[in-house]
Amino acid sequence: MIRWMWGVVVAVGIGAGLAAPAAACVVALDPGHSRDRLGATSARGVGEWFFNRALTEQVAASLTAQGVKAVVINPAGGPIGLKDRTRQATEAGADLFLSIHHDSVQPQYLTPWQVDGKARSYSDRFAGFGVFVSGRNTGFAASQAVGQDLADALLAAGLRPSLHHAEPIPGENRPLLDARRGIYRYDDLVVLHSAPMPAVLLEAAVIVNREEESRAITPAFRDQVAGAVTQAVTAFCRKH
Ligand SMILES: [Zn+2]
Repeated sequence: MIRWMWGVVVAVGIGAGLAAPAAACVVALDPGHSRDRLGATSARGVGEWFFNRALTEQVAASLTAQGVKAVVINPAGGPIGLKDRTRQATEAGADLFLSIHHDSVQPQYLTPWQVDGKARSYSDRFAGFGVFVSGRNTGFAASQAVGQDLADALLAAGLRPSLHHAEPIPGENRPLLDARRGIYRYDDLVVLHSAPMPAVLLEAAVIVNREEESRAITPAFRDQVAGAVTQAVTAFCRKH
């Protein structure tokens, strides 16, 4: 029944001569960090960049399947400056910049443990996603709209935000624009304010959390996040 209805919708769209608006939209996907500077370290000792790269590939595949052109910034993970990331997005004609990360916590929350005989550290105190936008981005309102749609889709998929970046302690204290959706304002994030197009940074999961790390490496989790990103991006592209 759904397939039949979908077929009718598509047929009507084509029959009315409507171009697929998403096809004209270009999204830059920015897997955070690089091979030489891996970002956070997970509870079991895996560098954040590996999580970011795997999730970005899933997001790119999902967007491509929906007719959105996805350009992955620095896919091989070589050394790259933050402003080079947004410059490459501009050169690719990106309409939207999405930086994909996985989250950590402040050092005082970390507890040492051993994994395969190696010293690691974890914190099970916080779990969930975070969405960041910059008030210095020239497309701040559009960035917020994408962030809201993304958070709503993540919530609908059963995921929950982590509010630990709002805690009034050194290194955190980020203003929450929307606590229910886990949307923070972080004006000085370079990839967000240097992007000459709307820009959003997603912290998909807290990988120092042992349970959340285990979930974050599953195809099911990546599918959930990729689906949510695709919903938010296609909504942006329809309006763009
Ligand atoms: Zn990161």
